[in-house]
Amino acid sequence: MGNDNKQYGLLIDYEYCTGCHTCEIACSQECDWPAGMCGIKVMEAVETLPNDKAYLAYLPFPTELCRLCAGRTKKGLQPACVQHCMAACMKYGPIEEPAKEMSKKLRMGLWRPY
Ligand code: SF4
Ligand code: SF4
Repeated sequence: MGNDNKQYGLLIDYEYCTGCHTCEIACSQECDWPAGMCGIKVMEAVETLPNDKAYLAYLPFPTELCRLCAGRTKKGLQPACVQHCMAACMKYGPIEEPAKEMSKKLRMGLWRPY
């Protein structure tokens, strides 16, 4: 996997996120963040479906602190959040590949470090 993290990113498929917060815990343990800081946050949003029923969606998004687990990816490992996401709704890879996948679905987000 990539040595130049500027060309890599995280693809998050919101449709399959269960809101378990494991990605936050994995990030905190990997990066040893102080309380209240994290490289990823899982937010909740209530959406209204076409049949007027409410739908609770979970939106994990990396923060400005995320550096894509550069220490892990240089060794060929997956970022901690990707490794531990039980729903397997996050992928790490070159930006061009996730961008192609995004064009197939609406509920996807692509993120790369600032
Ligand atoms: S670990 Fe995966 S399923 Fe759980 S909140 Fe994070 S992105 Fe969603
Ligand atoms: S890639 Fe690493 S630093 Fe970024 S959110 Fe995931 S675990 Fe945290």
